[in-house]
Amino acid sequence: MKTGDKYIMLEKYSELQQKALDDPEKFWGEQAKCLEWDKTWDKALDWNPPYAKWFKGGSLNASYNCVDRHIKGNRRNKAAIICEKEDGSCGILTYYELYREVNKFANVLENLGVEKGDVVTIYMPMMTEAIIAMLACSRIGAIHNVVFSGFSSDALADRINDSKSKILVTTNLLYRRGKEIDLKKILDKALLNCNSIKHVVYAKRGIEEFNLVSGKEYFWDELMGGAKSYVEPVPVESEHPLFILYTSGTTGSPKGVVHSTGGYLTYATKTMDWTWGLNEMDVFWCTADIGWITGHTYVVYGPLSLGATIVLYEGAIDYPEPDRLWGIVENHGVTILYTAPTAIRMLMMYGEKWVNTHDLSTLRLLGSVGEPINPRAWKWYYKVIGKEKCPICDCYWQTETGGHIIYPPIGIQSVPLKPGSATFPGIGIDVDVVDNEGNPVDANVKGNLIIKRPWPGMLAGLWNNDERYRAAYWDRFKNKFSTSDYAIKDQDGYIWVLGRSDEVLNVSGHRIGTAELEHELVSNKMVAESAVVGKPDDVKGEVPVAFVILNEKYRELPSNEVKAELIKHIRDTVGPIGTPAMIFFVNKLPKTRSGKIMRRILKKLIMGEEIGDVTTLEDNTSLEEVKKELEDFK
Ligand code: ATP
Ligand code: MG
Repeated sequence: MKTGDKYIMLEKYSELQQKALDDPEKFWGEQAKCLEWDKTWDKALDWNPPYAKWFKGGSLNASYNCVDRHIKGNRRNKAAIICEKEDGSCGILTYYELYREVNKFANVLENLGVEKGDVVTIYMPMMTEAIIAMLACSRIGAIHNVVFSGFSSDALADRINDSKSKILVTTNLLYRRGKEIDLKKILDKALLNCNSIKHVVYAKRGIEEFNLVSGKEYFWDELMGGAKSYVEPVPVESEHPLFILYTSGTTGSPKGVVHSTGGYLTYATKTMDWTWGLNEMDVFWCTADIGWITGHTYVVYGPLSLGATIVLYEGAIDYPEPDRLWGIVENHGVTILYTAPTAIRMLMMYGEKWVNTHDLSTLRLLGSVGEPINPRAWKWYYKVIGKEKCPICDCYWQTETGGHIIYPPIGIQSVPLKPGSATFPGIGIDVDVVDNEGNPVDANVKGNLIIKRPWPGMLAGLWNNDERYRAAYWDRFKNKFSTSDYAIKDQDGYIWVLGRSDEVLNVSGHRIGTAELEHELVSNKMVAESAVVGKPDDVKGEVPVAFVILNEKYRELPSNEVKAELIKHIRDTVGPIGTPAMIFFVNKLPKTRSGKIMRRILKKLIMGEEIGDVTTLEDNTSLEEVKKELEDFK
């Protein structure tokens, strides 16, 4: 592979990449054989920009591929899902048990009148019923729309209404940090505004009784009791939508990303394998919630399509004690742990003592996703958790890309890693880094990360919104996919994702990524987390403003001294141009529920503007705190 000026000796990867880029149709046609198809496609790719039809003319069923095909062979009694609840109770569902449950629930949906192409909203936490419901939808060709169970009534109602969902599958209770959260109350409020919903199914939990609206609402258990044990999987066209998933909304109102069945499932299965190189002994734990794309591709479809054993944990990873996550790894013998930098930083803040009481020797790979991982967290993850023997798979991708698009291809061969880089373009992904006119930039120069040709995991469109689909992804670089992230390709061909291109400051004509400043701040031992946004300035155009969470033992120091040291640190590492005009110390930052900092909210607060859509905000107290800091400053 030619990578910048040098050749990195990754023969197997390069060979595969070459094949994929030389003849994509042939290559992806071969890869799609990882699935069982009812009918083989006529054409592997029909590219009519900006829409791609993968495996046109072919038909298949996703639930068949994730369940039925495993029970015919050796995996029949293999654990599919090891589920653990926050109270410590555990259960195991084998592939055969999963198969039975999926069939029965598919019949329940049929009995409620669900047909191919209907949208079913699933509003559930990390309980096995959520996965069963997803697979049951796909069994009959219904399209699922999973909504994160931490969302408010308004966020849920928006997503039901936009998708025109007929059925809602849900539960009445959530368990979190030892408390019971009344989901029914949120649901009742949301349902007042959702006219499309004809039926609601509750997987009831807890001892509290509640009444159902007759003819409309049902209990899961009662419907399952009378359900048939086998439903013929419906073969759907490859392009048939498998699901809609609304993006987290870090940058604005949520978009209904649609993924097709054949292309998406092929890509989920292959990237699962190319990234992790799964074997039958693996216990795979991806901590992402099924309400996010990572939960779709690497909790459900990727692992189950490959017949893997997954861990499904419902609860907080630091409850009742900060070592909960390490206890789960130890108890279930997790071999691959896939989590997010925000979780790693939090666990790092608790300290090593919580790790060292656990035997983590089963681990062989560690994954990171969701945002760039700062080198300090990377090193901690590598040394303290992986004991310097587990590669860190930093995987870059988006809801829209369906699966990893920049990742170390560990499943193919080992890769020299660089902390903070997701390494190389994924197999078949034609990545480039370009300037605003679309011309490739030189090595080590920051530019826009784009993908120059379609790939099977690519979104099929935005739900009923062709205009936004074109505008958001394809218009800017003339039918090349715009990720809206900034990146650098270094002299060895490693890609460094710097953050969103809409989060770049222009200070006296110099462009500085907020991510770059944040990285430098958190590389200081006093800082646990930080968020940087730009504030308009008459002289410089824009100046950085930093919000900082200090590590506990530095919180008592005089704030002026800490500020002075942080400013010095930034001047030394980034240069004077990056000097924050203001630094605020807070205990929390406004984040989306998937753990990403919502800089647009901080920016609005600084500007004194209306905050806009906050349905995806995790915790309102973070806003109040920031507001108060700003007030005090005035
Ligand atoms: P919205 O598009 O609605 O604003 P979102 O982009 O936060 O929401 P996701 O699709 O969940 O929703 O997140 C994808 C984004 O997360 C990427 O575009 C990138 O900015 C960031 N990201 C994900 N993984 C990585 C990674 N390994 N390194 C760097 N950035 C990452
Ligand atoms: Mg995005």
